[in-house]
Amino acid sequence: MQDTAAPTLFPLFLDLRGRRVLVVGGGSVAARKVTALLEAQADVALVAPALDATLAPLVRMQRITHLGATFARHQLDDAWLVIATTDDPLVNRVVAEAANTRRLWVNVVDDAELASAQLPARVQRGPLQIAISSGGAAPMLARHLREQLETQLDDSLGALAQLFVTLRSRIRARLPELPARRAFFRRALDGRVQAQLRRGDIDAARESLEAELEQINPTPRGRVSLVGAGPGDPGLLTLRALRVLNDADVILHDRLVSAEVLALARRDAQRIEVGKRVGGNHDATQQRIHALMIELARAGKHVVRLKGGDPFVFGRGGEELQALRAQDIDYEVVPGITAAVACAAHAGIPLTHRAHAQSLRILTAQAKAGEAEHDWAALAQPGQTRVFYMGVSGLEHLRDKLVGHGLPASTPFALIENGSLPQQRVIAGTLATLPVLAREHAVQAPALLIVGEVAAFATELHWFGAAPLVANDARCRDFARAA
Ligand code: SAH
Repeated sequence: MQDTAAPTLFPLFLDLRGRRVLVVGGGSVAARKVTALLEAQADVALVAPALDATLAPLVRMQRITHLGATFARHQLDDAWLVIATTDDPLVNRVVAEAANTRRLWVNVVDDAELASAQLPARVQRGPLQIAISSGGAAPMLARHLREQLETQLDDSLGALAQLFVTLRSRIRARLPELPARRAFFRRALDGRVQAQLRRGDIDAARESLEAELEQINPTPRGRVSLVGAGPGDPGLLTLRALRVLNDADVILHDRLVSAEVLALARRDAQRIEVGKRVGGNHDATQQRIHALMIELARAGKHVVRLKGGDPFVFGRGGEELQALRAQDIDYEVVPGITAAVACAAHAGIPLTHRAHAQSLRILTAQAKAGEAEHDWAALAQPGQTRVFYMGVSGLEHLRDKLVGHGLPASTPFALIENGSLPQQRVIAGTLATLPVLAREHAVQAPALLIVGEVAAFATELHWFGAAPLVANDARCRDFARAA
């Protein structure tokens, strides 16, 4: 083969059920091919002097047949397909030539020149498969494409394909004309059935498809996906969040959601910022959000309600679902990486540590009316990590309560501002100086406060962004003496 031209290969999917496939070689590559062949219910025969740890039990259980140690032409007698996987080029060549003489398709692993058949890179969702080939020109490119498709294609597609199989004859009978069938599939693929499959409700998904088939439901039912956008770095979005964002008609997002995350959403999705502003009337805003979600879903839209972090951690996600449920509107929830988890990771602070913290408390520094009240005595107990959300103001109160209930003023803290974002700042010190330091460094929202022995790890384990700003210990001692 010339260096300059890759052949255009002809793609083909084989029904190998009960058909003999000869695999030559017994190593890990052979094991991978055998696994795939067994998935296709092929009758696998193996030739190899020694068997890989996954192959030996398959032979013992008679899932595959071990024909012997060395290749012989007669082993091709019953074969439909041959795969040569040995690391001996000479053996591979002998097998390929023997197969060619018999006009049997032969794949030679990592040798496109010897092979008459190539195995594609695959993306699989149940019976649905995408095969990718570069004609041997650039296998890395094919693999890269495969990875991209893996992230984009929802796991529910497999179940959807399976559902279409069970409904196939009904669909054909009900919609004999191709254009009508196409329109049905377009409606059926609008994402709602997939959302039902994602939540494991196959019956609901089937009912939706059946209703669609009978056209009982000509205007599609809208729905709401309550999605956690994570702390801002788009790399920390979940795959499911990304897929749902790609399907959105309307996105109602908080102010905290970063522009980089929003940029990943479907281009023509309408974006509406519904964030609460400082000093605004939060309850009125919340009521408006409920009304808007309901109105849009009623109009048949797929509404994505996008929130910073996780929607169920100080995100009022519960209230929003209650409002939807009261109006009988479909919803799903996609979790996100919450600030505590993201900030801790990006500040090098393990939230639990066998020597320092056996429990983790997630708290808010603010309450409905001003400073939060907690069971301070319990929070002052040793061996735990306390994470305070919304903790930019009221730090003095917080420090006084904790120290007043017996937590040593020398307990380490870390304040993480804009955690996981390029402008992240970490301020580390001891409880005594917490309010002073926060003021000195003019810490702004969003910031998260971690109090506990583990917070001291920030100076030792930090890896992201600037090193933590560490407190001057003298003031800590002053406070301790005064306290
Ligand atoms: N649902 C969100 C929390 C919303 S409350 C979540 O799960 O993360 C808002 C508070 O979250 C902020 O006041 C701050 O304390 C914290 N927060 C959110 N993003 C943050 C970030 N990138 N860095 C530091 N704190 C953050």
